[in-house]
Amino acid sequence: RFITFEGGEGAGKSTQVALLVDRLRARGLEVVRTREPGGSEGAEEIRAIALNGDAGRWSPMTETMLMFAARSDHLDKTIRPALAAGRWVVCDRFADSSRAYQGAGGGTPGEFIESLDAAVVGETQPDLTLIFDLPVEVGLERAFGRGLFETRFESKGVAFHERLRARFLQIAEEKAERCVVIDAVGDIETIEARVWAAVEARLL
Ligand code: C5P
Repeated sequence: RFITFEGGEGAGKSTQVALLVDRLRARGLEVVRTREPGGSEGAEEIRAIALNGDAGRWSPMTETMLMFAARSDHLDKTIRPALAAGRWVVCDRFADSSRAYQGAGGGTPGEFIESLDAAVVGETQPDLTLIFDLPVEVGLERAFGRGLFETRFESKGVAFHERLRARFLQIAEEKAERCVVIDAVGDIETIEARVWAAVEARLL
C-alpha cells in the first residue's frame, strides 16, 4: 500500500506522517517512511540543489524536471522495491505537490506535468492521498513559528499559497478515487483521528 500526504505550508503533515507510521507498525505492518523531494540518496542530492538558492534560480520548467528527476530515482530506489516486497510506503509529499507548487504556483503547464507523471510515476499511483487543508494564514503562521521562512518557497506571498490551496482541493475532486481531504485545523490528536479514519475506511 502506498499512502501520500499533501498540502501547503504549516499543515502539520510531517507530525501526522510519524504518527500514522507508528500506528501501522503497531499493527505489525512493515512500513517505509519517506519524503519528497528526496527519499533516496540521489533524490536527496537533487533536493539540496532544487530547494536551496534564491527565488527564480531555476526556470519553472527546470524546477519541474528536477522534481521529477528526484521522483524517478526515489521511485526506482525506494518506493517500488518496498511495494514489491509487500511493505507499506508512507510518503510526505509526492506528485500532487508538483501539480500544486510547480504547476499552480510556478506556472509550469499542466500538460507538461501530466506527461512527466505518466512517464515517471506511471502505474505507481498512490492508493490513498491525504490532502491536508487549512486556511493559508493559519498555515503560514505555524510555518513562521518554526522559522521555515528562510527558503524561497515560503516567501512568495499569500496569493501564491492561495493558488496552492485551491489546486490541492481541485486535485482532491479530480482524483477522488484516491484522495481524502483532511481538515488540518485542530489539535494533533483530533487530526490523527481524522487520518486514521480515512486509512481505515480506504485501506484496512
Ligand atoms: O514537506 P515540506 O513542507 O517540508 O517541503 C519542503 C519544501 O519544498 C516546501 O517548502 C515546499 O514548498 C517545497 N516543495 C516544492 N515543490 C515540491 C515539493 C516541495 O516547492 N514538489
